[in-house]
Amino acid sequence: MVLQNELHFVLVPLMSPGHMIPMLDLARLLAKLGGVMVTFVTTPVNLSRIEAVISRMKESDLPVRFLSLQLPCKEVGLSEGCENLDLLPSPMSLHNFLAATKMLEEPLRLHLQQSSPRPSCIISDFCHPWTRHVARDLEVPRFDFYSMPCFALLCEHNLNVRRMDDGVGGEDGLPIVVPGLPLRVEVARVQAPGFFPRPEWAWMDDEIREAESVSHGVVVNTFAELEPEFLDLYERTSGKKVWAVGPVSLCNELAIDQASRGDKAAIDVEKCVAWLDAMKPRSVLYISFGTLVRSSLAVLVDLGLGLEATRRPFIWSIKAGGIQAEVEDWLAQGFEERTRDRALIIRGWAPQVTILSHPSIGGFLTHCGWNSSLEGITAGVPILTWPGFSEQFLNERLLVDVLRVGVPTGVKTPVWDGTIADGDLQLNREEIQKTVERLMDAGVEGEERRRTVTELSKRARSAMEVGGSSHLSLTRLIEEMRLYAHKKTTLVP
Ligand code: UDP
Repeated sequence: MVLQNELHFVLVPLMSPGHMIPMLDLARLLAKLGGVMVTFVTTPVNLSRIEAVISRMKESDLPVRFLSLQLPCKEVGLSEGCENLDLLPSPMSLHNFLAATKMLEEPLRLHLQQSSPRPSCIISDFCHPWTRHVARDLEVPRFDFYSMPCFALLCEHNLNVRRMDDGVGGEDGLPIVVPGLPLRVEVARVQAPGFFPRPEWAWMDDEIREAESVSHGVVVNTFAELEPEFLDLYERTSGKKVWAVGPVSLCNELAIDQASRGDKAAIDVEKCVAWLDAMKPRSVLYISFGTLVRSSLAVLVDLGLGLEATRRPFIWSIKAGGIQAEVEDWLAQGFEERTRDRALIIRGWAPQVTILSHPSIGGFLTHCGWNSSLEGITAGVPILTWPGFSEQFLNERLLVDVLRVGVPTGVKTPVWDGTIADGDLQLNREEIQKTVERLMDAGVEGEERRRTVTELSKRARSAMEVGGSSHLSLTRLIEEMRLYAHKKTTLVP
């Protein structure tokens, strides 16, 4: 007989902040529910980033273990310590990085074969299709984890099917209609290229499809009330059961957990909150492009000048990467001085959930990474959309056209590391000023958007409460694994 406390969930996130952070939240949620032990698989560099979270979990006696496996960077031609997507020298090294993650298969299998209690299931980032071999050898179910909406998953799925059928849409810049949706959604081919669009990454798409075909279902950071028709349709189209368990960020109930989420903040969090306290309610725009998108200096300068022209208060989280010195030069040439009384610039990691939850925040300019988008919705903050890459243009369509909580900046060209073609400047300062004004506007359109996002924020919170849809979903997932483990034990002679 399997005892209550013998369930053991193994969580294997991709080593990228946008994948690790929600998985760590999921670990906390599972552990809080009781009767489940969690192993969170990571690597030394990533472990050190989340030290504060780990010690908070220890203080709360949460049954979460951290397994730190050595990522063989050198073997694949990466420098030592290059253990996270945000540390890659360029997107071109993604191939090497993924090759290194694949080499974690054997050490993970060895560890789990000896672990006690025996694993009950593996929840794996979809970018780790190799975990299917480990699950198979341990004879446990494997789930794919996505921190992206069912809307984007469905669009990607349908576009992919069409891509295979007829080579979809031909020309990169021309809009195509996403097939099989209950409403008309248009994206340019280049804006929805699939998760691994370069020919040298094609093996990943094949492996992901193969892993999905044998997976037990998908665990998604969304909530049923946000996108009921797309959740349902994705389930039917993919043939996979969806467990919608979000917004997972809400598991960080205490201010201290919100402030230390993901990494150590590059700013004194108390000072940041005090700065926000001094601002009028809903007056401040928060700007962040997440953890991977890198803008060129020209884009940052135009963005800064556009923000300055609005004369509104803002918090700007800048991650300049390789152009830090140039950005500092530009900030020092007068921008920071001119905006000193109404701008807070964060150089590095921002305590994003803390900032978004503050009543002074009135808008969020984001790259439409799904974690950020959902965190904005959860905080009840209207969103200005400036998608970068991957599924972010699809997330924009969801925010703007379906949920009606977003205003599009009008950016059309995908960008990851600032390498857009000369003259293909994304937006000029006047356009930025205009779209910020539209977002922060107190008129009828702005008020309607605020009402809509406030309502969604309430539903997000209800979904995570005891008896809410996401809470039930996670409880059922645990129950299903309990039954599965029970059957397995009783079947063994
Ligand atoms: N984040 C943060 N501080 C930062 C930048 C990002 O807390 O300075 C968090 C953010 O709250 C979100 C995650 O990092 O949970 C970024 O994930 P998202 O999917 O939005 O974008 P990505 O970085 O993966 O493109």
